[in-house]
Amino acid sequence: MERRLLEGAVVATATGVDGVRRSHAEAAIREAQHSPSNTRVGAVIARGQTVLATGYTGERTGLHAEQVALAKAAENDVDVTGAQLFTTLEPCANSRTSRVPCCQLITEARLAEVHIGEYDPNPQVYRLGWKFLRDHGVKLRDFPADLRQAAHEASANFTEVFTRGTGMSAGAKFDFTQNGGLFTISVDDEKESPCWKTRWTNRGAKSIYLYGGHPGFVALARYAHEFDEIDDPDALDYGGSSVPIEIGSIGIMRNEHGHVLCKVTAIEPTTDHGGSGHVSVTIKWEIRLAAAPTSSD
Ligand SMILES: [Zn+2]
Repeated sequence: MERRLLEGAVVATATGVDGVRRSHAEAAIREAQHSPSNTRVGAVIARGQTVLATGYTGERTGLHAEQVALAKAAENDVDVTGAQLFTTLEPCANSRTSRVPCCQLITEARLAEVHIGEYDPNPQVYRLGWKFLRDHGVKLRDFPADLRQAAHEASANFTEVFTRGTGMSAGAKFDFTQNGGLFTISVDDEKESPCWKTRWTNRGAKSIYLYGGHPGFVALARYAHEFDEIDDPDALDYGGSSVPIEIGSIGIMRNEHGHVLCKVTAIEPTTDHGGSGHVSVTIKWEIRLAAAPTSSD
């Protein structure tokens, strides 16, 4: 009888399975929105249509969403062997504390399938969880594209740590092979704060491109090594759509808010956690705001 049902239902369940996947992924995103911390992550453990357990990061002090869901399942004597996990963020494969990494908990609980909303934006651990689970025989799926976007937005504060920097004069290190090489520099944390969307692409071991997209936005302050050596940044040549910047040199991006001067201080492969060939750039910047419009009267 069961066999007959399965055979007869193949076509009908093709869309049905996708619908069930979507609803579990959406439930995980809703869980994430409950997270009290900046790291907003939600998880749902399911078997077929049935939700077995849910969790979100911070629901229990210091615990990750997957950990919370697994703990709740265990407390309720729910068997999760062979079940599916839907999580808005790639499960962690390592831990700086005594906490057991979620990937290890997932394999110990013998979950069969993990659906991921977004890979970890931290370049040092990006896809390490995926690899760990793959190596332990767990089937991996991605959320549908629109729900990946929703998962990303749910955890946006967390992601931004790696793609945004603030301050009139500050520095950052980021992986320019991730997030389209985009790094947003803004004056402060306010929503309307003046910002510059800098974009970086690979050039070589000792230099990198600052990409403006079109002529008029980026310039190289050739031979300058200190910000105070640059008098009026508008005096430079903005004729190219990108400029190569060597380590120790300064590139400039301008827009209606003014200029951000970016000095490249290091380019290096990411070696932490056995990361594989990701490349980070370290920059220092100085913002020079455009003068407020003055009356010509
Ligand atoms: Zn975790």
